[in-house]
Amino acid sequence: ATPTSIMAGSGRAAEYGILFKTAEAMERAKDVDTIVFDKTGTITEGRPTVTHFETTRDQAKLLSAIVSIERESEHPLATAIVRYGEEQNIPFVPIEQFQTIMGKGVSATVNQETIHIGNKTLMDEYHIALPNDLSTVDKYRTQGETVMYIAADGKYCGFLTVADPIKEGAVEAIQQLHEAGYSTMMLTGDNEKTAEAIAKKVGIKEVIADVLPTNKAETIDLLESSGLRVAMIGDGINDAPALARASIGIAMGTGTDIAIEAADITLMQGNISLVPKTFRMSAASVRNIK
Ligand code: ADP
Ligand code: MG
Repeated sequence: ATPTSIMAGSGRAAEYGILFKTAEAMERAKDVDTIVFDKTGTITEGRPTVTHFETTRDQAKLLSAIVSIERESEHPLATAIVRYGEEQNIPFVPIEQFQTIMGKGVSATVNQETIHIGNKTLMDEYHIALPNDLSTVDKYRTQGETVMYIAADGKYCGFLTVADPIKEGAVEAIQQLHEAGYSTMMLTGDNEKTAEAIAKKVGIKEVIADVLPTNKAETIDLLESSGLRVAMIGDGINDAPALARASIGIAMGTGTDIAIEAADITLMQGNISLVPKTFRMSAASVRNIK
């Protein structure tokens, strides 16, 4: 392999917005057979909006506590909730003992009451019983929406849902990858029902859901040790270890710096349509030199 040809290839790729960090990454990309996508911010736009809020308590009061807590979080879900509160002119109230439970949710004390907001794993961890009938919650999930449960002093008291639109070009990108013979998967911290609904919308057949941020890299290792050559595509801090560990890590340019640093390739503007092109170009440029 002559470095010059690979360099020329990576120069051409850059013109399209595909930034290869090293010439070696371009060579390694040609051996990939499985492409694993993160969900939020990779397949979806990563700009969720609240679609529903339901509680057995005083709506405005509870929302006031929730937005005051989520204001302390940097998660895109938190941003959506804060915006939802602002749209309704919900006032902020003082909070204490704010805590992020990575990949699960947040908690804080408001008016001497402990509030938890997050997924089922968070509720299980704090022994908060969920209602027996979760059919309403499931209805949102089967539409691809994300559900966050709310509890006050260890008692379930409602839920919030958010929707995050799928990126333009996602369906076509997945289809092109399948046509070129690649397998595709989704790897996400979100609930299985939600993940499967989004996967179905874009044509991804395999879903690995409810994965804690710390376990994303481990999952990549498992796939690789089963003989697959994996490219991981993600945008978040929680994707960074997986991006570093995969044969090829691809970061969305719209993602966190930590993800971009960990990756071998960055796609400008987080453009998912560039994924098939990335693999076509690396195959072509390596072919040229042989
Ligand atoms: P993703 O893989 O979609 O980026 P994360 O691993 O960051 O998701 O989070 C997994 C789940 O934890 C979310 O779907 C949500 O239910 C819960 N969660 C995370 N952060 C928050 C937050 N700030 N407020 C409420 N829930 C949260
Ligand atoms: Mg993400």
